[in-house]
Amino acid sequence: MVEMPKVILPAAEAAAPAPTFTGNRALQIEEPLIFEIGSAETSGVDFEEPAETETRLGGLERTDAIGLAGLSEPETMRHYVRLSQKNYSIDTGIFPLGSCTMKHNPRLNEKMARLPGFADIHPLQPEKTVQGALALMTELSRWLLELTGMHAIALSPKAGAHGEFCGMAAIKAALEARGEAETRRVVLVPVSAHGTNPATAAHLGFTVRAVEAEPDGTVSVDAVRAALGPDVAAMMLTNPNTCGLFEPHIREIADALHEAGVYLYCDGANFNAIAGKVRPGDLGADAMHINLHKTFSTPHGGGGPGAGPVVLSEALAAYAPVPFVRREGDAFRLVEHADDAPEGAAPFGRLAAFHGQMGMFVRALAYMMSHGADGIRQASEDAVLNANYVRARLADVLTQPFPEGAMHEVLFDDRFLKGTGVSTLDFAKALIDEGFHPMTVYFPLVVSGAMLIEPTESESKQSLDQFIDAVRALALAAKAGDAVRFTEAPRFAPRSRLDETRAARDPVLSYREKTPE
Ligand SMILES: *Cc1c(COP(=O)(O)O)cnc(C)c1O
Repeated sequence: MVEMPKVILPAAEAAAPAPTFTGNRALQIEEPLIFEIGSAETSGVDFEEPAETETRLGGLERTDAIGLAGLSEPETMRHYVRLSQKNYSIDTGIFPLGSCTMKHNPRLNEKMARLPGFADIHPLQPEKTVQGALALMTELSRWLLELTGMHAIALSPKAGAHGEFCGMAAIKAALEARGEAETRRVVLVPVSAHGTNPATAAHLGFTVRAVEAEPDGTVSVDAVRAALGPDVAAMMLTNPNTCGLFEPHIREIADALHEAGVYLYCDGANFNAIAGKVRPGDLGADAMHINLHKTFSTPHGGGGPGAGPVVLSEALAAYAPVPFVRREGDAFRLVEHADDAPEGAAPFGRLAAFHGQMGMFVRALAYMMSHGADGIRQASEDAVLNANYVRARLADVLTQPFPEGAMHEVLFDDRFLKGTGVSTLDFAKALIDEGFHPMTVYFPLVVSGAMLIEPTESESKQSLDQFIDAVRALALAAKAGDAVRFTEAPRFAPRSRLDETRAARDPVLSYREKTPE
């Protein structure tokens, strides 16, 4: 029996103290845009005007001053440091975004990545001067192939979604080689899939056919068989899936697909639940991306620099894109062009200018080597343990669509909010007031008002308890009718609810001075 935490709700008026003269709230400082505080006359640098030079821009050179707002060096530092302090990060607290795997970024990895032999090299340096870097890429490849039980690897994709594109492009190349690219135009995608899966398939010109989930949240062999036909090229399947459940029929699904001449793309974003326990190659995967920023602890940074290496089965290995590293005796060589590729290889092309995110390769390998094989297995087990701890401690106050036990993340729905006037979005916003980054909401789409919590293995029992206590208190407050706490949340953040959809659909990318009202 879990003891309920005592909840002290502050009086309503305490929520809105009189504003300060400055608009600042203690050390939370209002920071204007650089265009509002800087001026074209100010600069943090002091360069001589360049001597007259001959231009080769053919009359396209700028004639007016660029007019960007400038700041002095100390003003610049303050502006950007203040902005950075508005960020919530894994270094400030638990970041329970389901499917995103916001785990701690060990400082040892950072130290390794800053070694000048890795940090200060250039991708166009002569091969013989970067042998150490190529050796590291080879070693990282070896670990990833060993952990996944696959045959070939492409290190160059820059993120999970880019990796999906790489793996599906390899599948397309294999179909072309089989002379079936024109007939096999359909990709099967379960309804619980991450949005990048159908987007990737569509981007490569495939048509998406949805596969319904069973009432228990998993995909059945019968549903896959029913969707199969001579027009099917591949199936994209996430395992564990985005409901946090291991797909128990994956082997039979893989066999059914292979019998029908169809490839299995495994979305490996959730590999952190099974790394060191199961090899996706043994489950029948033909291609899989690995998000180094999820499973292998490299930083997620505002969309980059990410790394999403792709591993390929024997059937697809020949189509791996360039560049790749080849060992020749004691030396490492970078194969840059298809006509330079070894006998039998037919690279489908190239995905990125250079070789991938070197700094992320160093960090990921540092994580693997410092954990060792047993440590990686334990990280997976601890991630699953933590998610199940959260599940168990919230089971009596939230509602679970699939209560059977979770892998590395746990899914709740919004049935517990029925009749309270509080939505999943309101609930998430109230967590911001409590000092937590919310969980993933409204994903996956297969349940109503989804809340997907992924604590990762990084969190201690104490930090899980703090988060759980806050969620419990909020759930009880919602049920007790304290709707304002939710519908007006976040009340304590510098900004409240922003129109995120409009910001994404209709971004304002250039600054216009406000016209006085
Ligand atoms: C994160 C994620 C992706 C996409 O990976 P990015 O690195 O963000 O591009 C794809 N599928 C699933 C299930 C994910 O969680």
